[in-house]
Amino acid sequence: MAKQEFQTEVSQLLQLIIHSLYSHPEIFLRELISNSSDALDKLRYLTLTDEALKQLPFDPRIDLEADETAHTLTVSDTGIGMNEADLIANLGTIARSGTKNFVSQLSGDAKKDSNLIGQFGVGFYSAFMVADKIEVVTRKAGEEQAYRWTSDGKTGFDIEPASREVAGTTVKLFLNEEGKSYASSWRLKEIVKKYSNHIAFPIYLTYDKSEWNAEEKKSDTTRVTEQVNAASAMWRRSKSELSDDDYKELYKSITGDSTDPLFWFHTQAEGSLEYTTLFYIPAKAPLDLYQAEYKGGVKLYVKRVFILDDSKELLPQYLRFVRGIIDSEDLPLNVSRELLQQNRVLTTIKTASIKKILSELKAAANRDADKYTEFSGQYNRPLKEGLYSDYANREVLLDLVRFKSTAVEGLTSFADAKGRMKEDQKSLYYITGGSEQLLRNSPLLELYKKKGIEVLILDDDIDEIVFSTIEKYGETDLKAVSKAATSEDFKDDAEPEQADAIKPLLEKIKATLGDRVKDVRASVRLADSPSCIVSDEEEPSLQMQQMLRAMGQKEMPAAKPTLEINPDHEIVKKLLARPDDPVTQDAAWLLLDQALLLEGVQLQDPASFVQRLNRVLQMSI
Ligand code: ADP
Repeated sequence: MAKQEFQTEVSQLLQLIIHSLYSHPEIFLRELISNSSDALDKLRYLTLTDEALKQLPFDPRIDLEADETAHTLTVSDTGIGMNEADLIANLGTIARSGTKNFVSQLSGDAKKDSNLIGQFGVGFYSAFMVADKIEVVTRKAGEEQAYRWTSDGKTGFDIEPASREVAGTTVKLFLNEEGKSYASSWRLKEIVKKYSNHIAFPIYLTYDKSEWNAEEKKSDTTRVTEQVNAASAMWRRSKSELSDDDYKELYKSITGDSTDPLFWFHTQAEGSLEYTTLFYIPAKAPLDLYQAEYKGGVKLYVKRVFILDDSKELLPQYLRFVRGIIDSEDLPLNVSRELLQQNRVLTTIKTASIKKILSELKAAANRDADKYTEFSGQYNRPLKEGLYSDYANREVLLDLVRFKSTAVEGLTSFADAKGRMKEDQKSLYYITGGSEQLLRNSPLLELYKKKGIEVLILDDDIDEIVFSTIEKYGETDLKAVSKAATSEDFKDDAEPEQADAIKPLLEKIKATLGDRVKDVRASVRLADSPSCIVSDEEEPSLQMQQMLRAMGQKEMPAAKPTLEINPDHEIVKKLLARPDDPVTQDAAWLLLDQALLLEGVQLQDPASFVQRLNRVLQMSI
């Protein structure tokens, strides 16, 4: 058969992989073993569920065979195997949307890059780092014909008919200069222990073993086959038997991440339902965290048999960064992706798992503040999505999210802010709708600053949507400082006599601004600024309206802002002293426009703003 060319991106990608992963070439073995393990999982699943394949033998094993003189290494499995079409589809194309991302992420240092390889499923190709040529002989379970695929990893590949006694796949590497050391048995053992110790199937190594023969005073060499991994479903062992290193190792072998996880939570439930869950929080958020097409990170097992991974049904979307395993004793093996959603057993496990993850995170926050800060740096935002979507767990989620604040550096929690409340302070306050800098400088904060009342700075773009639906933290009211109603904490600041005195000015301003504002009134929340904008309790803020409009919500009725005027401000006092001065008109618009600008809202008519500003400037010079 004629040589077939790689799909365009493949050869380019191969070169990139080879160059960017040179510092960890050994991971090629982890990738090949995990492919074999997947192939065995798939076959086991079929022999348990597929009528036609039920009678097939299932003798799961992965074999490594090294030849130090020929410089070859063979990785062989008794898994599902591939037919000709599979070979072309799986080893000739990289039809994955992640490819482009992968290429664009490759610029960083090589160590970081080695973490990416698993995420983007380019595993097999990493073997070309250590091999000049790769030969794959494979036979699909249930089919008679085997095929041989060969490639130098540069130009293309050949496929020809071959024979293989049983179903499965044999990958033979012809090691290059750099890869020679991977034919050494001690090196192979070391790598298997490091990366693949908890693969559920036995991995055997066949090699020439030299032993000192004391009688004949020489070393004898015999060809031996030894199992080199522990091959246990580690998560099913009791917690007391497991060390931190065991957990870290399993994490690395199931995720391909080479960095230790931040936290892990291991649960072995007994009783009406029997299941094991082991969840990990990666140190760095997965790259697809904010992509609609993210991959779920939890693998489902039934009685230690791998059923599926990548499923979005196993945990809610906002916990999509969690990695790990759910292993149930009570689910049927043939549970399908479609049925998962309605399965009562799984729903129960899922509900318990969410509770467990959240409560463990809360415990971790109390136990290890520094680590929790790292966690917040990566996952604060998805937790806020949870506040919005997971009503049942809102209370604990409120304890898990973190905020910037006017009172402390770094991040703080609702609980801590509550602890800092003044003795007679009634509510907790926050400000939303713009960048941190914009919010910190907002005139709305002036009085809070003056009175020493803490305000949480919520500068995430989803904060306003999320927190507009949340009215309380525990028993304490949560209030946005931009809302029109004067807070109870400032009730005493209103002076009725002053309010009366300023009324005529307010009316004049209102008449000038017409229907651009809902109302104009005296403010008790300002200290240094002459004016500010507030919005109604139920209305989205101006910032938010701007965002919704940018997102295509054209139909939204333009909610009008309420303009508040600071009676104590010099400008306002002067205007009050000269009721008939024509400058009042320009001043009215300038008071509105400057308040809008400080809110980060674009002016509808910047030209008029500038004209007025210039008129006023001219008078003052
Ligand atoms: P990934 O494993 O991340 O999907 P790879 O490039 O390593 O990416 O493999 C591509 C595909 O080739 C696999 O998804 C699988 O379908 C197939 N494959 C690779 N190795 C084997 C194997 N040992 N047995 C059966 N199929 C395999």
